[in-house]
Amino acid sequence: MIHQQYEVDDHLHEECGVFGIYDMDGNDVASTIYYGLFALQHRGQESCGIAVSDTSGPKGLVLSHKGMGLCNEVFTPEDLESMKGNIGVGHTRYSTAGSSTRENAQPLVLNYIKGTLGLAHNGNLINTPQLRQELARTGAIFQTTIDSEIIAYMIARARVEQPTVQAAVAEAMKKIKGAYSLVVMSPRKLIGARDPYGFRPLCIGKRGNAYILASESCALDTIGAEFVRDVEPGEIVTITQKGIESNRSMCIPKEQHARCIFEYIYFARPDAYIDGVSVYESRLIAGRSLAKHHPVNADLVVGVPESGNVAAMGYAMESGIPYGMAFVKNSYVGRTFIKPKQSSRESSVRIKLNVLTEAVKGKRVIMIDDSIVRGTTSDRIVGMLREAGAKEVHVRISSPPFLHPCYFGTDIPSEDQLIAHNRSVDEICKIIGADSLAYLDEECLYEMSKGLGICTGCFNGKYPLDPPTEDIRGDYQK
Ligand code: SF4
Repeated sequence: MIHQQYEVDDHLHEECGVFGIYDMDGNDVASTIYYGLFALQHRGQESCGIAVSDTSGPKGLVLSHKGMGLCNEVFTPEDLESMKGNIGVGHTRYSTAGSSTRENAQPLVLNYIKGTLGLAHNGNLINTPQLRQELARTGAIFQTTIDSEIIAYMIARARVEQPTVQAAVAEAMKKIKGAYSLVVMSPRKLIGARDPYGFRPLCIGKRGNAYILASESCALDTIGAEFVRDVEPGEIVTITQKGIESNRSMCIPKEQHARCIFEYIYFARPDAYIDGVSVYESRLIAGRSLAKHHPVNADLVVGVPESGNVAAMGYAMESGIPYGMAFVKNSYVGRTFIKPKQSSRESSVRIKLNVLTEAVKGKRVIMIDDSIVRGTTSDRIVGMLREAGAKEVHVRISSPPFLHPCYFGTDIPSEDQLIAHNRSVDEICKIIGADSLAYLDEECLYEMSKGLGICTGCFNGKYPLDPPTEDIRGDYQK
């Protein structure tokens, strides 16, 4: 099922969105979490869930509901109404490690000697097999195949020795390696933590007397909260009735930070700010850079929706060539999309995208897309423009070519499946049937992130921390 999706959409997929809230006035938070998750739906569409608790109620009473599908498929108004509690966490998931099943949906809720933990995680650990073995040797029985359960266990175990749950999170962070943004709910506290490299985003918001943690700032806008600040890479924030407390003992020098640059290129919504940098502006910069370094004479610049659109605007601004709309997208093609049979006359790509013939007929078109992963759809999109009468199709990609896999929470596959691996740009251009092709230069990534430390491992193989010796992605249950 997952692989069929690539014939419709050859883009990367993010692993998850996380959300947490603590309302000090005691108001119920389930519906606010729902709307927060709704704003983060683009980060994962396979499953979602909410867990809530009452900070003045009995310790250990957590109400949770989760299931497969989009937020509006999983929750009914009655579900939300019945979830009473003023503290809670939520999650929306796309799986890159652990299969797509209801058991693997989050948040995870764990009962242990000190009470209950609710946890939601975005990212991928790279030392999962070692940690899993270590825990299994000492009697742990796993309910899921996801690395998030390992994090929950590590925190629960550490809590037995540590004076507070936030100290237990810090202790667990000494052992887990890789990419993680976490929201953790204990009976009386909400905790947010970001891995020391800052691969995945996490920010803090405030609405009245409620504090919020969210993967992207656009989720704060949606629920009418103000942005307070980002959680720093390596920082642990603890929200209690007394306010926010910060622990920076796991922070590393900022030169070592390695934010996933794909958050800016593709994953995050353009209305989000990550670590002070506007995603919209980053994409404009990428488009401008493509126009400066890879110009071509043409009549029209178009973006492959959605993430290609802003970069296309940047290209148009820099080149002076008009920006236009060439595609109409059907946004309802979800992860459970049934791919047409080979024998059928429907085309997977056409079901998702259609061309506006009037816009492109007789024109030389520059088409901007954010990436080419396997190359399973680009030829068809170029072909659609030609069939609609485009005289020339020049493809510009707002990221450098993918040459290596990702181990930190996105589904870039192994090298042999990447179209750019062992192929020149000219060869790829021929395969996709374009008149010309150019990719973003790697140097531009630093301009896009305004000099913040970024990860560029999938482009140049220089990973911020050693990748695992065996490729464990996606098959943890073995
Ligand atoms: S390897 Fe690429 S996709 Fe993975 S975290 Fe680094 S920049 Fe992001």
